Formats: sequence, C-alpha cells, structure tokens
Amino acid sequence: MVRTGYLAGVLLLMIAVALVGGCGGTQLVSTDEEIKMGREAAEEFERTNGGLDRDPRRVQLADRIGRRIGAVAAQPPYTAYPYEFRALANDQVNANAFPGGLIYLWRGLYEQVGYDEDQLAWVAGHEAAHVARQHSVRRIERALGYELIIQLALGEGTTSEIAGAVAGLTLQSYSRDQELEADRVGLEFTHAAGYDPTAALAVIEAFRKVSGKDPSQLELLFETHPGNTARDNAVKAHLQRKGWSGKYYKPTG
Ligand SMILES: [Zn+2]
Repeated sequence: MVRTGYLAGVLLLMIAVALVGGCGGTQLVSTDEEIKMGREAAEEFERTNGGLDRDPRRVQLADRIGRRIGAVAAQPPYTAYPYEFRALANDQVNANAFPGGLIYLWRGLYEQVGYDEDQLAWVAGHEAAHVARQHSVRRIERALGYELIIQLALGEGTTSEIAGAVAGLTLQSYSRDQELEADRVGLEFTHAAGYDPTAALAVIEAFRKVSGKDPSQLELLFETHPGNTARDNAVKAHLQRKGWSGKYYKPTG
C-alpha cells in the first residue's frame, strides 16, 4: 500500500515536472530546496577543501563585508537568500558561491589583494551576483534533472551522492556571459553597500598577475573566459555609464 502510494506520487511528480519543464525557464527547485541543497553541498566542499579559517582578521572581514553585501543582494528584484560569507583555510587565490547564499573567500585571495576591504567586497559582490542571478541552481537543474527534483519533492533530503554532484557542478566554470553579468551586478552590489566599486579594476589586475605567474593557482571562477582585458573594459564601461569614480578610476567627460 505504501509502496503503491510512493510510486503513484513519483508518477504524478514526473507528470508535474514534465508540464512545468515545458514552459521553459521556470524554476523547478523551490527557494527552500535550493538553500538546503546548497548548504549540504557546501558542507561537503568545506570538508574537502581546507575547512573553515579561524584567523580572526579574515573571519571579521568576511563577516563585515558579508553583512553589507548580503543586505543589498537580498533586495528586490532578487530573492532574499540568507547570505553567509565564510573564510576558507585554503591558500589558492579563489572565491566561490553555493546556491542559496553560502559564499567562501579563500585565504589566498585575502593575501593576493593585500586585505583591501573594497577589493574583497567586489569579489564578494561578484559571488553574490552568481547566487542572486541563480547561475548555479539553473545548471544543477539542467544537469541532474528529474532525479534531483524527485528526491527533493519526496522530502527525503539529498543523498551524499547528490550533494557531491551539486558541489562538483558548483565548482565548474561559469559561462563568459555569466561572468560578465556577475562582474556588472557585483559592481552594483558593491556600490549600494557603500564600497568603492572601482576596486574591481585592482582585483582584475591582481588576477592578471596570478595568471601570468602560476596558472595552476588561478582562481577557478576567474579563469580563461572572458579574459582579463575584456573584463577590465566591461567594468570600465559600466563605471563610466554610472559616473562612479573612486580610487582606481575616474570617469571622463
Ligand atoms: Zn564568477
């Protein structure tokens, strides 16, 4: 009896998913499910990538920047995700985000930008933009499809297998357009949070140095595409359009 109910539920769900999926671009995973899935994947990721960084300076910076960036990123038109920024004990120059708002700033990143709060804030804003624009969750839905959706809908939680797959998918490169969008939305968040958005140019310069010196250390989410020159130009064009000046850039005219 239970078994029949279960199968009937799965069947109904598959029909529902097929109907929703037909609309194109509709979100299949609810916000609550997205947050839960992101948390589980992040735990798996954190365990296998150095763990939490306990250094007070880095933890405080992550907290302070996170509160300011998280508050603006959760405003309409974006979803009010419970953003949380953590320092990761890993020497790579990197940062990454999980669906639902968990974001990691890696130890190597702090070092590379000399603990500059405005520069860290733009990286945090860039990562928050990937979350707000739902770049990862859309990819996860496309890659895992029915299996993930059925597991979530049956309320059995995600298996460690799924959590691992989600973590892996989150660490893959974003597309060129997604990166440029995250750069631009990241500028908006940084500015709205009261930081100097022109610091983005200093970060791009810092990444240029890292990529020239040691490609293996290159930040996962800032790699090959779109390329530093293209990003630099796009950031400058946005600053120019907005008339935002700061330590690293003054709009002309
Ligand atoms: Zn990115």
